[in-house]
Amino acid sequence: MIHFVGAGPGAPDLITVRGMELLRNASMIVYAGSLVNPKLLTYASSGCEVHDSASMTLEQVIETMRGGFTRKLSVVRLHTGDPSLYGAVREQMDRLRALGIPFKVVPGVSSFCAAAAALHAEYTLPGVSQTLVITRMEGRTPVPEREKIQNLAVHGASMAVFLSAGMVTELCQALTEGGGYSAETPAALVYKASWPEERVLRGTLATLPEQAKGIRKTALILVGNFLGDDYELSRLYNASFGHEFRKADNGAPETQAGAPPVVFAAFTRQGAELASRLSEAMGGRVFVPERFAREKREPFSGKVSAWAEEWFPRAKALVFVAAAGIAARAIAPCLRDKAVDPAVVVLDDAGRNVISLLSGHIGGANELARRIAALTGGNAVITTATDTHKIEAADDWAVRNGCVVENAEAIKYVSAAMLEGLPMGVAVTDETFTLPPWPVTLWLRPQTLVLGVGCKRGIKKEALNAAIEDFLRGAGRSFLSLKVVASIDLKRGEPAILEFCRERGIPFLTYDAEELGRVEGPFSSSRKVLEVTGVDNVCERAAVLASGGGPLLRSKTLYPGIALALARAAGNRRVS
Ligand code: SAH
Repeated sequence: MIHFVGAGPGAPDLITVRGMELLRNASMIVYAGSLVNPKLLTYASSGCEVHDSASMTLEQVIETMRGGFTRKLSVVRLHTGDPSLYGAVREQMDRLRALGIPFKVVPGVSSFCAAAAALHAEYTLPGVSQTLVITRMEGRTPVPEREKIQNLAVHGASMAVFLSAGMVTELCQALTEGGGYSAETPAALVYKASWPEERVLRGTLATLPEQAKGIRKTALILVGNFLGDDYELSRLYNASFGHEFRKADNGAPETQAGAPPVVFAAFTRQGAELASRLSEAMGGRVFVPERFAREKREPFSGKVSAWAEEWFPRAKALVFVAAAGIAARAIAPCLRDKAVDPAVVVLDDAGRNVISLLSGHIGGANELARRIAALTGGNAVITTATDTHKIEAADDWAVRNGCVVENAEAIKYVSAAMLEGLPMGVAVTDETFTLPPWPVTLWLRPQTLVLGVGCKRGIKKEALNAAIEDFLRGAGRSFLSLKVVASIDLKRGEPAILEFCRERGIPFLTYDAEELGRVEGPFSSSRKVLEVTGVDNVCERAAVLASGGGPLLRSKTLYPGIALALARAAGNRRVS
């Protein structure tokens, strides 16, 4: 079997899970080397044959894949973005079909999606454009006359232009001639969306050609008023617009403007009184049979099932002062999904038992039941498993304790195992050498490590990345535990360090020579560093200072033009 796989726009973690699995299991990969980020090849196993198709003809590509197929290899044909856009895949698929070789296609995240993400843009803004035109300037591949840029520009729609980075002047000219846009129409260029070297240029059709000078490859040009500031609010999330998952709000007064209300349903006199007291204390609307209606108590307009159907999609919570059976029957036809269903709480009309019936966690029914029970002096009945066993979900714990989850796929197993008492482990450590004895381990990485960096001016980002990777590997510490990077203020604008920190969302702290000089510890001392920076050691001193005086885990280690040291943030023990 041959799999055509969309590699995504560049970042290795923007491939689909299915695509990644196929790469992992592939024994032959034929990739479009001119565009696919080679980092994706690190998913391949060590024995896998890798062919770059950049210099091959169609025949050679087919021949290579056919060879793999006859040798019974699992072959992945890796294309950038999504294969269906400018991927020249149709001709390959047709040849394979003719040869009787089976194939499948796995879609990918196209670069136009990554570009929108980089721009924080939405192509389909209400009141602006509901259409996205995906096109290109004519190059060696001809573009049909009726699709000439001028003709497409007539519509003034949102536009994503591929394969045209070297022709921005001609492109902007053609777009303005079409009539749908003007010289002031917003335009942007996104270079290498999602790659470390991503760049975003924003301007107008008039300014973009000048701004884009020098960029000739791997860029998209986006055009249209969707890049501007004016639009109408979306109908999807508008309260007066009903759709499948939510009924329209027709202007009925709510507890708080716009917020979905808590609604109470009661059926007995005592129940109505209790519901009124509760709604007074915590806000909400009370519905009762006609004969109990009075001020601040509205009568049901029909059966309770109709009432439930009306409120279930639009209330934050439904509280039934009634038998659980009445509530269960009333809401049964409305149930959708725990992600969207409201909280449902049931209590008897004396308020003795307050049952969290539906949406205990996400919908907040457990909390609501506890609040109501506190008001009535009754008992909150909670039946969701993790609460009754007083076990906190592992991912909640991780977040609360400032840890990064390394292998999220283990969470489900760990939660189930905790309930069932199965063997499993949670390792909370910044160390990578530890070999846990459990069959499944959830790895949580505490934010403990402070990296001190000293370097020459203008070092290459790749060199810095590689050095840090090697350094941490040598120290046996996880990348995910990096909390802070620190250096001397002379390095405040050092592009490679800034980029490293930006990509990983790690803060970068700098200190002046005097502050660094005051730090005490067993630091090495270099005359040359002293001459250049005013302090005899940058990386170790910066690491220890930024860590709040924590211990040095790895002393100064040299790479070409780079010195690194590692400290553990004070107060952070090694926890396992
Ligand atoms: N199938 C790919 C497009 C291949 S054609 C996809 O779905 O994205 C190659 C063109 O795609 C490039 O000339 C450029 O215009 C665009 N492109 C591909 N990757 C890009 C990226 N990461 N950032 C910006 N443009 C990109």
